[in-house]
Amino acid sequence: MPWPPNRVLYPEGGYYRLDGEHVKTDVGDGSDTTLFMVPDALIREHSKVIDSALSKVSPGTERRVRLPNINPAHFNWYVEWLFSGRLWIFVQNRVPHNWEGHEVAESEEFERWLLCLRLSSAVKDSDFRDALVDGFIEWISQLDRDYGWEYGVKVAWAVDAYAGSESPMRELAADAAFRNWDTSDFTKLTETRATPLWFCGLVLAKATAARHFGNDRTKHPLPPKEITTTCEYHEHDNHGKICYKKRRPF
Ligand SMILES: [Zn+2]
Repeated sequence: MPWPPNRVLYPEGGYYRLDGEHVKTDVGDGSDTTLFMVPDALIREHSKVIDSALSKVSPGTERRVRLPNINPAHFNWYVEWLFSGRLWIFVQNRVPHNWEGHEVAESEEFERWLLCLRLSSAVKDSDFRDALVDGFIEWISQLDRDYGWEYGVKVAWAVDAYAGSESPMRELAADAAFRNWDTSDFTKLTETRATPLWFCGLVLAKATAARHFGNDRTKHPLPPKEITTTCEYHEHDNHGKICYKKRRPF
């Protein structure tokens, strides 16, 4: 429970007043447009797009931003994350992995994750992207070996499009494939040109290194990453920022 009431402790040692100045954010286009009221300090700390738009608003005029190209339902996930600091990757009442119908929940979760990654690029929020890294690691630890070719290639293309060439998410995409793919997936990687070049290069380099050290990947799968040790896949160091998890009150 944040203390004092009506405030969010964020960043460490500083309070944002939830009853302070708010930004009116019109999200979507036409009749679908939805108005979000978001605390000024909270959203400007995160979204470079909104921060830049607000810096052009002259004092005394309405603090209002329009984001016509963003789906309000997707922006709602972002606002939930802004307030909670936690990305809820799993859908409610999901069918556990390996139970009948589990693929439906997993595919829904994955599609939402892809949409959030696109949104992180649209609002320019690298903390949100770091939270998506943690959500992905949480999600993939449920799938284990069912994270096959199709998922791996979609992740590689999404990272290629929305995370930038310097992003450590590239390493995450390659590690996820290397840890969970089976032999037929690796064969497809070398025989098709269906993935970004950097992805193919990273995965093959990992496979070569494992062979070099006599490490039989199929018999000794590497354990999934602990969610507390995921900073190697986060971008905050690139931006000179502290990890979003360390700036939150939980
Ligand atoms: Zn971190």
